[in-house]
Amino acid sequence: MSKIPYKIYLEENEIPESWYNVRADMTAKPAPLIHPATLKPLKFEEMQPIFCDELIKQELDDTTAEIPIPEEILNFYKMYRPSPLVHAEYLEKELGTPAKIFYKFEGSNTSGSHKLNSAIAQAYYAKKQGLKGVTTETGAGQWGTALSMACAYFKLDCKVYMVKVSYEQKPFRREVMRTYGADVTPSPSMTTKIGRAINEAHPNTTGSLGCAISEAVEAATSKEGYRYVLGSVLNQVLLHQSIIGLETKKACEKYGIEPDIIIGCAGGGSNLGGLIAPFMREKLRGEKNYRIIAVEPASCPSFTRGKFVYDFCDTGKVCPMAKMYTLGHDFIPSANHAGGLRYHGMSSILSQLYHDKYIEAVAVEQTNVFEAAEIFARTEGILPAPESAHAIRAAMNEALKCKQTGEAKTIIFGLTGTGYFDMTAYEKFNDGTMTDYIPTDEDLAKGFASIPEVNL
Ligand SMILES: *Cc1c(COP(=O)(O)O)cnc(C)c1O
Repeated sequence: MSKIPYKIYLEENEIPESWYNVRADMTAKPAPLIHPATLKPLKFEEMQPIFCDELIKQELDDTTAEIPIPEEILNFYKMYRPSPLVHAEYLEKELGTPAKIFYKFEGSNTSGSHKLNSAIAQAYYAKKQGLKGVTTETGAGQWGTALSMACAYFKLDCKVYMVKVSYEQKPFRREVMRTYGADVTPSPSMTTKIGRAINEAHPNTTGSLGCAISEAVEAATSKEGYRYVLGSVLNQVLLHQSIIGLETKKACEKYGIEPDIIIGCAGGGSNLGGLIAPFMREKLRGEKNYRIIAVEPASCPSFTRGKFVYDFCDTGKVCPMAKMYTLGHDFIPSANHAGGLRYHGMSSILSQLYHDKYIEAVAVEQTNVFEAAEIFARTEGILPAPESAHAIRAAMNEALKCKQTGEAKTIIFGLTGTGYFDMTAYEKFNDGTMTDYIPTDEDLAKGFASIPEVNL
């Protein structure tokens, strides 16, 4: 085995040619999406007005382990993949830890995050179905940017409903999307029924992801030749993101790296689900026993304080219901929350795995997260996205534990993206005006009150 380089790059011809569907190896399968009126699992035909046909098949497929990646998608992947697995030698030195730390860096494409891995797949299947375009929501803007790049590649129309506060505070993200040809509307808008209703009920609202989702779904279902696409949470998205874990595993095998701990930040769960997929396969089969840690913000603690129940995926209740760890679809994180990962729910796959104790979760506070982000930027050179910095924080905490015990554990974490568009959050941290807010049980109770009564 050759010496481990600082950056492990696989060859272009080593990009995995199939995605891996972890549901195939789960004995307790994730609960299906259900129809809010009938409470029965959604059938293919019922999803057709909302989602692309091939993506519905992937959503419903709990048994096929390997799903070949179409050549057109592989061609696009080649523009920015394989992504490097980096040995964080400089961070290790700074921490003085005997631990070995590696990170899989997904931020080296223009959209700046892992979301492009699924955006290109979803755009491809929409194109293949002969659709005119897709609609979606975006919060901070990474997903909208990724989707606009993917749609530009396949010459598809792209309509993005962007949470109003981000639309106003992140004009550069908005302009990147428009540069790639997307049509960007601040949400809630007056262009949809649900948007008008939300504006009427809350005239000064700055919007939320759940509300933008409702608008995007309405826009897709009321327009001929359009479908709705989503950048996280869904089974299909975790499937596409398995490319992250498959490449990581290959790189590990090439250099004899054996991880003890695998860490990822968790918003809707797609990067973590993708990173751990092939490792979870071994864990589910009893071949290996990795510690897997999901890291979430203390201000939006779906795993660590949420309920594992059926809930709506959106505020407007136009989407199906999913069984997941949720804070309630009316939950909105406090206004001082700056670091992303603000979705109220969590992937059904990860929720089931967490429920069955295959993964652990920790919640971290944002000032600690930004402290870790700055140490990382100053040692490893990359300016991390605040979301990614949650994983950095947890990885550093584990490495510091190793320093105390003297154990040389191997830690791999997902560095999901770069933070160039998050400088308002960094500014707050640098100015010392960033605060932490941990919701009280009463705060959470308000969100829980919105959970529907179907959970008998
Ligand atoms: C969207 C995003 C996340 C969180 O989404 P998941 O679906 O939980 O992966 C994390 N990091 C970055 C950079 C993102 O853009």
